[in-house]
Amino acid sequence: MPKLPVHPRHTPRYPSHDPARRCLAGLALAAACGLSGCGVIDSARIWFPQASGLEAVNPRLYVEPAMTAEQRQELQRQIEQGRAVVAAFYGELTSQPYVVACLTSACDHRFGSYGQPAAAYGDMAIRLSYRGRVAPLIAHEWSHAELYRRAGGWWHARQIPRWFDEGVAVVVADEPRHSEDNWRAIQGRGLPTPTLDELRSFSDWGTALRRYGETSGDVPDNLRRVYTTAGHEVRGFLRCTGPEGVQAVLDAVRAGATFDQAYSGARAACVD
Ligand SMILES: [Zn+2]
Repeated sequence: MPKLPVHPRHTPRYPSHDPARRCLAGLALAAACGLSGCGVIDSARIWFPQASGLEAVNPRLYVEPAMTAEQRQELQRQIEQGRAVVAAFYGELTSQPYVVACLTSACDHRFGSYGQPAAAYGDMAIRLSYRGRVAPLIAHEWSHAELYRRAGGWWHARQIPRWFDEGVAVVVADEPRHSEDNWRAIQGRGLPTPTLDELRSFSDWGTALRRYGETSGDVPDNLRRVYTTAGHEVRGFLRCTGPEGVQAVLDAVRAGATFDQAYSGARAACVD
């Protein structure tokens, strides 16, 4: 996939370890997510991983102390692979989230998990459960962080519909369970799929996951209709605009356009 040009106003930087900034980011994200459908905000501990019993492998990786040296090395390899996938899509990374990695479900719950293998917290942090320590899931969550930062932070990112954010993450991570082959299988079976209007808010997204049975690991034949629908829409958009289309949308949103204006403007600038 062609790379986006370097975007000079985004300066890569290390995540802040300033507790006040972490709190503000957490509160802002909590306000954005509400209490349903997000599932990543319940615990403020994510902002203070060491105070919550984790060990710092380095300033951007915190793990449960029981994690072995081999597990830590493998995790770092997976993080690097996931990071590289997102960098290849955008051309460069502007976000540097730190990673909080659990081994046990008790640790997952302590950091606010409701069973998701992985979650992103704005552009500040990514939480991984035992099942989430693989490059595609890390790439998916890092895509959320990168999009959040390129959109200009919470104030702008809050109006980006879930289907776009998740659709870009699905395309970037390129997981088979959200592929175009999956979309064709869903269509071939005549299975109902959500409309984009059903997938705008965090609450919408959570409702759709429940309605289409995507809340657990066991989805019949792995036909995950909600994520696959989002990926299908964004793949169609990218066929028209190229990957520069994502940056065009985010630039417009950051400059004050509504998402719908930004999205239709980017589509109008290309020939379908
Ligand atoms: Zn996601």
